[in-house]
Amino acid sequence: MLILGSHVKFQRNSQIMGSLEEALSYNANTFMFYTGAPQNTYRGHIDLEKVKEAKRKMEDLGLDYSKVVVHAPYIVNIANDKDPDKYEFSISFLKQEIKRCEELEVYNMVLHPGSHVGLGVERGIQNIKKALNEILKDSKVTILLETMAGKGTEVGSRIDEMKSIIDGLEDKSHIGLCLDTCHLNDAGYDVLNFDKILDEIDEKIGLDYVGCVHINDSKNIRESHKDRHENFGFGSIGFDSLLKIVYNKRLESIPKILETPYVDREYPPYKYEIEMIHNKKFNENLMENIKNGK
Ligand code: FE
Ligand code: FE
Ligand code: ZN
Repeated sequence: MLILGSHVKFQRNSQIMGSLEEALSYNANTFMFYTGAPQNTYRGHIDLEKVKEAKRKMEDLGLDYSKVVVHAPYIVNIANDKDPDKYEFSISFLKQEIKRCEELEVYNMVLHPGSHVGLGVERGIQNIKKALNEILKDSKVTILLETMAGKGTEVGSRIDEMKSIIDGLEDKSHIGLCLDTCHLNDAGYDVLNFDKILDEIDEKIGLDYVGCVHINDSKNIRESHKDRHENFGFGSIGFDSLLKIVYNKRLESIPKILETPYVDREYPPYKYEIEMIHNKKFNENLMENIKNGK
């Protein structure tokens, strides 16, 4: 079965039940959310009753709760230790985030490896390894390092960098990868030939480390290092190539998450994109349909 969903909200009152309801309104069977605003580190408490309710509801619907994904906020940076206080804050924040995931019983957490901010890739990788060794101690949650576009000084835009990070961990039982199609394209990988990318990952790291795929088209050409997501089929990757990735047999059991932009910053595209993916047919009027709500 295709495991397909999108990024959804997580609100203070409705919490994960609200996230689930939003996902279901898109006809998704999984979803990804931030436990608070992605751009800050203020976090409220987790309502355990809502967790029970969401688990029960998914079970009733025959959906697999274990495929739900949390995304860590993107402002924490474990690649840069220039300011030791900030570096230590990122580590302790992520430890708390792991605890929140454990309360949510969500055991997949996507994390950006971070930016070295001038320290160089090698030092960045050292910092990430050191932080992860600390964060992953006694963790029941698997951290999925997301492949990055290579914007600015981002670490993790090369499979080789991911390999050196993972190779340097004391315990590899709770580490994995999240492949983002827009980021891979912008980093310079040929996503039109996705099997070749999977071969490289399999050879250097192991395909069983892949725990999530972010399905996004890109506003920019290959190797642009920009990281600007586009709606499914409307960017430089295109409908057929993205569809091939979604239906790639080697990724069958892995959750696929759309992080494509809202149309006019207002209308979520996910219900329409999911429908188009199920129909396997490109809808060139998608944007208009989304805006008109039909
Ligand atoms: Fe991300
Ligand atoms: Fe992503
Ligand atoms: Zn991105």
